[in-house]
Amino acid sequence: HDGATSDQLAKKLKVKLKDMIDKCLDINLLIKSGDYIGIQLANEIAALYDYRAENVAFDEDKVIGKEQLSDEDKSKLPLRNPIIAIMGHVDHGKTTLLDHIRNAKVVNEEAGGITQHIGAYSVKAGKSTLTFLDTPGHAAFASMRQRGADVTDLVVLVVAADDGVMPQTRESVKYCNNAGVPIIVAVNKMDKEGINPDRIKSELADIGITPEEWGGDTQFVPISALKGDGVDDLLESIALQTEMLELRASDKGNVEGVVIESKIEHGRGPVATILVQSGTLKKGDSLVVGETFGRARSLTDHLGKQLSKAGPSTPVQILGLDEAPSPGASVDVVKNEREAKKIVANRVAERKKLEETPKAKVSLEDFFAMA
Ligand code: GDP
Ligand code: MG
Repeated sequence: HDGATSDQLAKKLKVKLKDMIDKCLDINLLIKSGDYIGIQLANEIAALYDYRAENVAFDEDKVIGKEQLSDEDKSKLPLRNPIIAIMGHVDHGKTTLLDHIRNAKVVNEEAGGITQHIGAYSVKAGKSTLTFLDTPGHAAFASMRQRGADVTDLVVLVVAADDGVMPQTRESVKYCNNAGVPIIVAVNKMDKEGINPDRIKSELADIGITPEEWGGDTQFVPISALKGDGVDDLLESIALQTEMLELRASDKGNVEGVVIESKIEHGRGPVATILVQSGTLKKGDSLVVGETFGRARSLTDHLGKQLSKAGPSTPVQILGLDEAPSPGASVDVVKNEREAKKIVANRVAERKKLEETPKAKVSLEDFFAMA
C-alpha cells in the first residue's frame, strides 16, 4: 500500500491525533480518525510539523540561506523547461524510445556533438525544450521518491500494443497518481502485425487512465519507437501539455538541485549528474550533496560541452565531489568548503543519532511500505 490511516500517521509523527486534526483544519483540510491518507497528503501534513527539522537539529536552511517565496512571487518567476520521465513495463520500448529521441533530436541540432550518457538530456520540440530523464528503471525513481525528490513534471507511459497493461504498467500508474504527475500514454510497437490499440485503451481505462476520445483526460499517442513513427506527435503532445502547466523557477538566489545519477570513474573520481531545480549553479561553487561535499570543478552537458553555469531544468555532470552521492540526494550551494563540511558533519551525526533511536528509525516512506 502507498498510504495509511490518519491515526497511524499521527503516531508516526509522535503527535496526538486531535492535535493533528486541528492543525489540518488550519489549512482547511478536514480529516478524521480512520481516514486513509495517501503519501502526498501525508508529506504535506508532516511538513506542518516540520518533520524534516526534527531530523536536522541545527537550522540548515538558515546556514544555506533558503528563503520562502509567496505564491504571488512564484507566479512571476521565469518559465522553466519541463522534466519528463519515461516509465512502463519491461521490454515495452522505453530504452528504444529514449534512444530514438536522443539520436533523432539531439545530435542533428548540434553538428558534431556526440551525446554522452549523463542520465538526462534536453531536446527541442517546437518552441519548447524538453528535458528527459534517461534513467529508466524503477530503482532510480524509487530512490528519488524516497528522498522526496519528485522532479518529474510529466510521465510518458510506454505500453506495447502487442502486450497491454502489465504489472509495471500498473506500478507506474500508481506512482504517477501518488506523485500527482500527469501521464501521456505512448502506445508503442504500432508497426507490429495484428495489434488492437482499442484493447490497450480499454485496459488502461480499467485502471483509471481514460483516453481523451473516450471522455477521459489522457492523451494516447500511437508510436513505433523502433521506426520512429509518431514520435514527433508524441513530442508535440508533451510540449503542449507541459506548456499548460506553466512551470516556473528562479534562476537567481539559492541553488537547489537533485542528483540524477552518479558513479566513480577511473581517473576522474566521483562523477554526478545534477538537475538544477532553482537558481544557477556555477563552476567553482562549493556544494553540499546529500552527505558529501566538494566544489563543482567542471560542469559538462549531455553533448560533452563545458559549461560555466547551469540554470533551472538543466542537467549537468559535475566533477569535484568527495564521494559519489545517491540518486535523489539534494544539492545545495554554500559559501565555502568549511560551511559544506559543517553541514555534512551534522547530517551524518543526525542520521547516526536517528539510527540509534529505535522509534525514530523508521522513515515516513518505510512506514507506508509497512502499512
Ligand atoms: P524497455 O525494457 O522498455 O527499455 O524496452 P526496449 O526498448 O529495450 O525494447 C524491448 C524490445 O522491443 C527490443 O527488442 C526492441 O527492439 C523492441 N521494440 C521497442 N520498440 C519497438 C517498436 O516500436 N516496434 C517493434 N517492432 N519493436 C520494438
Ligand atoms: Mg530498457
